[in-house]
Amino acid sequence: MENNKIFILLLILIPVMIAIAFLKPSTICSTSNECGTACSINPEVKPMNNTEIEKEYKNKLSPEAYRILREKATEKPFTGKYYHNKDTGIYYCAACDNELFTSDTKYDSGSGWPSFYKPVSDKSIITKIDSSAGMQRTEVLCGNCKSHLGHVFNDGPKPTGQRYCINSVALDFKK
Ligand SMILES: [Zn+2]
Repeated sequence: MENNKIFILLLILIPVMIAIAFLKPSTICSTSNECGTACSINPEVKPMNNTEIEKEYKNKLSPEAYRILREKATEKPFTGKYYHNKDTGIYYCAACDNELFTSDTKYDSGSGWPSFYKPVSDKSIITKIDSSAGMQRTEVLCGNCKSHLGHVFNDGPKPTGQRYCINSVALDFKK
C-alpha cells in the first residue's frame, strides 16, 4: 500500500514539475514577443522596443534591403541578383537567415523577380492581405522576423499553382 501512495504522489508531482519547467520561460517572454532571441538566451535582457529593433536592422542591412524588407518597397523588375540564378541551394531571409525557399521550387515566371511555387515549410513564411497601391494582393513576410519579402499570386505552376514573387534583395542564397 505504501508503494502505491508513493507512486500516486510521483504521478502527481512529475507533471507539475514538467509544467513549471515549461511555463517559466514563456511567462517571461509572453509580454515581449518582439524581443527575438534576447529572451531565450537571457531572460534578464530588457526587450528592445520597435524603434530599437528598426535601428538594428538599419545597421545590419543595406539601404535598399532596409527599404524593401522593413518598409515594404519593391525592387525594380529584371534587376535583382537572383532573378537568373539557377544554382542549387537554399534561399534564406536576408534579415534573419530564416530558411525560405529551395532552388528546386524556383522557376522562371517571366515577371522580373525570383519566383517560387512553394516555401520550405508552412512556418517559413506568413501571408497577409495587402490593399496598398490600389490593389488587393497577398503579401509574403518572413515567418520568423516578419520582414517583407514580396507577394504571392494564384497563377503559378503545378503542383501548387502558387507564384511566390520575391525581391532578390530580401533573399540570401547559399549553395
Ligand atoms: Zn526573417
